[in-house]
Amino acid sequence: MSATRRPSPRPPHTVRSAWMDDVQAPPRTALITGVSGQDGMYLARHLLAQGWQVVGTVRPGISSLARMAPYLAGVEIVEHDLTDALGFGDLVSRHAPQAVYNLAAFSAVGRSWDQPELAARTNHLAVVEMLQSLLRHRDKNAQDVRFFQASTAEVFGSEVEGPLDEESSHRPRTPYAIAKSAAHHLVISYRERYGLHASNGILFNHESPFRGQQFVAGKIARVAASAACGRHTTVALGDLDVERDWGSAADYVDAMARAVGHEVPDDYIIGTGQTHTLRDMLTAAFAAVGRDDMEDHVELMPHLWSATQAQALLADPAKAARQLGWSASTSFDELVSGMVEVDVRRITTGVAESEAYLG
Ligand code: NAP
Repeated sequence: MSATRRPSPRPPHTVRSAWMDDVQAPPRTALITGVSGQDGMYLARHLLAQGWQVVGTVRPGISSLARMAPYLAGVEIVEHDLTDALGFGDLVSRHAPQAVYNLAAFSAVGRSWDQPELAARTNHLAVVEMLQSLLRHRDKNAQDVRFFQASTAEVFGSEVEGPLDEESSHRPRTPYAIAKSAAHHLVISYRERYGLHASNGILFNHESPFRGQQFVAGKIARVAASAACGRHTTVALGDLDVERDWGSAADYVDAMARAVGHEVPDDYIIGTGQTHTLRDMLTAAFAAVGRDDMEDHVELMPHLWSATQAQALLADPAKAARQLGWSASTSFDELVSGMVEVDVRRITTGVAESEAYLG
């Protein structure tokens, strides 16, 4: 019986590395997919502040760029649809980035049931093409490109207990999470087989005033801000006792950059290590505007809650602290009050987006 010979991994240090401290070197370029999303915007600003050149992709035609444009000065914007497999290789050839952060995704967990095929193409198959493109680029140019994949706590599924770490089992239960879990394992496989500097950040929920209004934290902030401005609105929620480990997007993009800058590629849980319930979030949001009448603004609709989602998700971010020197620095109350404050300003000024909202 003939044994299949496994190609030996090519250690990242055998190819040119732009991470070496060469003061003569031209500015490094980072390619961020999904730059008009919440994390893409924060990461672009973070890297620009560190002296990187940033190229950011937006979805052609239906992009959220119009909304996020006020925050993206200095970013070179290019159109790219993640489902366009070949286009990614062209982007890498054209911009020759030193780092790629894959943040674009079909990111709405619940809606992935309506479009499971699109979720798979966007969140899984696109990552296959990205990793293949980086290999081809390395072979052709002897240039190692570091890769970061936005993985998610959703990969752990619904039956979880206690703090989750990098060794916890994946039991994904939604098309979104199944595709993300497949991408996560691809990243590990390409790292081990080909020596790519490719890392997963297993991101727990993180928010900001700039996340889409379809996500629950944004809805809660908005309803509290509306109440503060004398408008009675309600938010429909499935279960107030669901617990999540909520952090701030601004903190989490710092963890992403640290993972890419770390000499050795690896996988990291990115979370705060604390959970709060949706009830806590409502209480904090209404407290931020001096109110305690949150019950009047909630419609309980149990059918909105799905058994495919975990009742509680808690991160154990000890490895990121140990290896990257990273920990979340924004408290839950600061996060929620910051979101409500920006929504109050949006309502009172009538200006939906402004760089001034970044604080
Ligand atoms: P987001 O605001 O929804 O951003 C996702 C971006 O992906 C959007 O700019 C979206 O463009 C783009 N996109 C979607 N489909 C695309 C396609 N086919 N081609 C090109 N671009 C496409 O998400 P986020 O909160 O910044 O999250 C960033 C990453 O972290 C995502 O991969 C997400 O799955 C992951 N993650 C986030 C959280 C969280 O709590 N925020 C938690 C765990 C993991 P349009 O706006 O034009 O659709």
